[in-house]
Amino acid sequence: MSAVNAVISRRAVVHNFQKIKSLAPKSKVISVLKANAYGHGLLEMASILIESDIFGVARLEEAIALRAGDVDKQILLMEGFFNLTDIASLRRHNLQTVIHSFDQIKNLEQFSQSNSLTSLPLKVWLKIDTGMNRLGVAPSQFNEALARLKAIDYVDNDINFMTHFSCADDLTNDFTAKQISQFNQLIDGQSGELTLANSAGILAWPESHADWVRPGLLLYGCSPMGDRTGSQDGFIPAMTLSTSVIAIKPLLNGESVGYGAHWKAQKNTQLGVIAIGYGDGYPRHAKAGTPVLINGKRYPIVGRVSMDMVTVDLGNDHQVVCGDQAIMWGNELPVEEIAQWSDTICYELILQLTSRVNITFEQ
Ligand SMILES: *Cc1c(COP(=O)(O)O)cnc(C)c1O
Repeated sequence: MSAVNAVISRRAVVHNFQKIKSLAPKSKVISVLKANAYGHGLLEMASILIESDIFGVARLEEAIALRAGDVDKQILLMEGFFNLTDIASLRRHNLQTVIHSFDQIKNLEQFSQSNSLTSLPLKVWLKIDTGMNRLGVAPSQFNEALARLKAIDYVDNDINFMTHFSCADDLTNDFTAKQISQFNQLIDGQSGELTLANSAGILAWPESHADWVRPGLLLYGCSPMGDRTGSQDGFIPAMTLSTSVIAIKPLLNGESVGYGAHWKAQKNTQLGVIAIGYGDGYPRHAKAGTPVLINGKRYPIVGRVSMDMVTVDLGNDHQVVCGDQAIMWGNELPVEEIAQWSDTICYELILQLTSRVNITFEQ
């Protein structure tokens, strides 16, 4: 039995998927399972999200892990392949791929179809850079990219089109509207299917839903909108991270706690020591005041987060006893809030849990 447990609710994930369908009723869904399904377990999430139209991953290894787990649904490599030798694997495992650069197009042109174990056409999604300036072909090179892809005999001529938002979580920023309109102008007259929206696009930019939406974070019940939580928009956090109280001790006025002796008690109080730390993936940058939930009540972290422990100020009239469960985030304590206390985003928190954390699934 591990000290630290992440319990994943299947019901929550199914609910979140349905909620996404209701927000984007005309769109098909690419369920994004990269990074071990945002720390929730790749194969388990794939089996729960069986209603998805396709799975999206970032890396070839992630797609191969799905195939090794007997997942036969279509899979899209959203970061594309990285070199010529990847193409044979892509073909062998029947994967679809994003194409975002002329280096990739050159690789496709060089690939000898005789190395391929399949004669199925290769489905590609051409990614257009509308301002993120990370991956994607420049709008000025769109026509050339498309023509060269269509000239490759084993590439499916039905090419889909994609772009990615850089500021969709910011409703006050008109950059997203500019990205949408540039994308729409460019693909005007093309027959392929379109995808623009990540979770923030799904929530905040309905005009971006198009043929396919690409939710990651929302599936797991968290919100990408800095100042909101998933539950405020009708989603259910899938993960509850908990551990236990392993010691309770008095702390006298003026005494300090933990490494660096950073926090000092302003009055006599009681301290709870909790078995979780950055060695489990709990953020070391969680500031004094970050809440921990014990028996339904919030207690503030005091002192630095260490590798294996955190300390909370229980005050003098608490009912907490050794062995009580301490919830670090979950339904009653949004991970979005913990992310704010730690100067990061909830994406990072849910997927940086270490192998010391025991992941289990409940109905
Ligand atoms: C990760 C990713 C997504 C999902 O993003 P969320 O903000 O988690 O919804 C969508 N599209 C692409 C290309 C991605 O890499």
